[in-house]
Amino acid sequence: MKPFSTARATGVHDALHQISTAPDARFVAGGTNLIDLMKYGVEAPSRIVDITQLPLGRIEETPDGGLRIGALARNSDMAAHPLIRTRYPLLSEAILAGASAQLRNAATAGGNLMQRTRCYYFYDIAFTQCNKRNPGSGCAALDGFNRIHAILGASEQCIATNPSDMNVALAALDALIRVEGPSGVRVIPIGEFHRLPGDTPQIDTNLKPGELITSIHLPPVTGNPRSHYLKVRDRNSYAFALVSVAAWMKIDGGNIIDARIALGGVAHKPWRVPEAENLLKGKPPGEAAYRAAADAIVQGARTYPNNAFKVELAKRSVVRALTTAEARS
Ligand code: SF4
Repeated sequence: MKPFSTARATGVHDALHQISTAPDARFVAGGTNLIDLMKYGVEAPSRIVDITQLPLGRIEETPDGGLRIGALARNSDMAAHPLIRTRYPLLSEAILAGASAQLRNAATAGGNLMQRTRCYYFYDIAFTQCNKRNPGSGCAALDGFNRIHAILGASEQCIATNPSDMNVALAALDALIRVEGPSGVRVIPIGEFHRLPGDTPQIDTNLKPGELITSIHLPPVTGNPRSHYLKVRDRNSYAFALVSVAAWMKIDGGNIIDARIALGGVAHKPWRVPEAENLLKGKPPGEAAYRAAADAIVQGARTYPNNAFKVELAKRSVVRALTTAEARS
């Protein structure tokens, strides 16, 4: 591991100052991804800024009845929190589907948002071709083993996927991400937080240099939404999703009146298609409507030699997730 210096931030403003002292400095909290990346030589910051002492760990109701989740809230605390379990069970379910209990105890909400892809070629520096790690070098996954890679929204430069379960649930819940930086505070809708790879796959998010995630906001719950997080993976625990689905809908008077579907494991960011969700609205719940939405959400899919199975898997997973959500009340 390359030598680096450390600093412990005493407050948000101190953290913003500390991160500005080196252009390649990184914030660290749980460290469950960054420290691995540093050990593997994928990331080599000259300075890391420990933000674990900042007062950003609370989970609390907002005056409008929504929820504010501090960026330093631990994943295990989020999954177990009574307000999340009762009002946003989709989020609790998704977090519990990820990692291991030990990792969830250490990992934070903000760190989960910033997780980097688990593409094998990104992690293994013996492969010199990786545009995400080394812009302009090529993409070893295009001609390599690409079973876990993207089928939607990819580019010729990168076909990596976002590995997070939490992010998929946040996408279906229309979360907002509050960040603070040199230019002040801004709020980023979750759908605009992560980027598609395009020509700059080395940039995962739309955070600006020096910005710090301070909290995640969930809108108030109205009506009686039903939801389910379905994760399909090679083994039943401690594995990343081949495909996952965050399904959320409201049923009233025998019809679906609102619906959201977010896919994980298929793109560089959680994948939502409003046209697919609109196909559900006004329809009676059931397999016919779910199949139509499933077909629409994978429109435009492009596959590679080892991952063509993901298209059918995603469609079937959407139908199953919506069917399970429908049965809940
Ligand atoms: Fe690198 Fe992306 Fe290609 Fe993986 S898919 S090797 S992360 S450029």
